[in-house]
Amino acid sequence: MSTDLGASTDLAASTDLAASTGLDRWETLDAKHQPPWDPVELAAVRAELSAVPPLVFAGEVDLLRSRLAQAAAGHAFVLQAGDCAETFAGATADGIRARLRTILQMAVTLTYAASTPVVKIGRMAGQFAKPRSSDVETRDDVTLPVYRGDAVNGFAFTPEARAVDPYRLVRAYNTSTATLNLVRAFTTGGDADLREVHTWNSGFAASTGSVRYERLATEIERAIGFMGAAGADFEAIRTVEFFSSHEALLLPYEAALTRTDSRTGRPYDTSAHMLWIGERTRGLDDAHVDLLSRVRNPVGVKLGPTTTVDQAMGYVEKLDPDREPGRLTFISRMGAGAIRDVLPGLVSGVEAAGGQVLWTCDPMHGNTISSPSGYKTRRFDDVIDEVRGFFEVHAALGTVPGGLHVELTGDDVTEILGGHGKILDADLATRYDSLCDPRLNHQQSLEMAFLVAEMLQQR
Ligand code: PEP
Ligand code: MN
Repeated sequence: MSTDLGASTDLAASTDLAASTGLDRWETLDAKHQPPWDPVELAAVRAELSAVPPLVFAGEVDLLRSRLAQAAAGHAFVLQAGDCAETFAGATADGIRARLRTILQMAVTLTYAASTPVVKIGRMAGQFAKPRSSDVETRDDVTLPVYRGDAVNGFAFTPEARAVDPYRLVRAYNTSTATLNLVRAFTTGGDADLREVHTWNSGFAASTGSVRYERLATEIERAIGFMGAAGADFEAIRTVEFFSSHEALLLPYEAALTRTDSRTGRPYDTSAHMLWIGERTRGLDDAHVDLLSRVRNPVGVKLGPTTTVDQAMGYVEKLDPDREPGRLTFISRMGAGAIRDVLPGLVSGVEAAGGQVLWTCDPMHGNTISSPSGYKTRRFDDVIDEVRGFFEVHAALGTVPGGLHVELTGDDVTEILGGHGKILDADLATRYDSLCDPRLNHQQSLEMAFLVAEMLQQR
């Protein structure tokens, strides 16, 4: 996020404008997974959030759209990554820095292997709400409302914590602000120095004792040496672009942060650079698709294994009627067992029907299992296999495998089975911190980057 993108964004989105551009149409449509807020309290919160400063600027959003257009054309590769669900308590300097460093480390490896820029997008600074399969949770004989993310209610299993509270939306905004502020400081203040990030990667490769990883780290070392010898100014590239994103789940929040860009008079959702629509809220005629069809941000749609070409083209027509490069990303999340069967028909069908989208791979959400000991987990090998399938499918079709969408943390958690550290079912209890889906830990994330680097080099 360069700081010289001075596009201003009007702070007050007038109700007249909202009505005239259909920005309030979603309120008349079916909106799935909205919490049962008190309407009076919610109205007060919406009024408050309508007056707060934007989190991102329109010019930055436009820049990301152009970066995603490059990725769709095969001239860049996207890495979108972060927590399944951020928490207010997790927004510490150490936690944010560890996540950011993990993403930057992965990006260096992927940049080298892809020989193209890597577009870095955090599932960060706003990923505070979750769709849930049940409205309630029962433990022993007690049934309470389900935890829906820190933007909605608390995780503790008590009636007080689980009560939904719209004022948490304000706290989600404030926590996003603090997170993004730190991210901007780290990514522009020299914490992203290529040479230093590479040194961390070399340390990781050496710690695994893996000949393959060490060979790649050595190759990158030599490339950096070559850059220096050829006169590259490392000081000048200490600033990296980093964008924010989250699932646009809670529509009153997204609507309150939607503002008119004073340059163009067009609406931008200023809660993040990119927003995506989840697998459970992607009803074509529903509220989520409608609201996002009216903002200028790049939009993603998660596509599970039941997605039809007609549905996918419905999203193209609604969300990208002008076929604008970088506007629409399809994030496939098929599962390792399904991707090779399901993705080819979808990609070729969309291509044949004239859709021009960026295809990225979420290898997490189609591979969630319950371990024998009862943890919600994923197998590292399944995650990698889905990515491999994604590359195979696009290679066979001659289309562009444009990026990855992953759930990870910078900490040494034990939430996903396998990887070089060989996490077993019995190890999951050691440090299972996630309040929602299991995430790759720091090591597993770097390992994934090294494995995907090999796939990129074989493209
Ligand atoms: C998620 O990204 O955390 C999520 C819930 O994904 P999906 O909508 O693909 O199930
Ligand atoms: Mn998740």
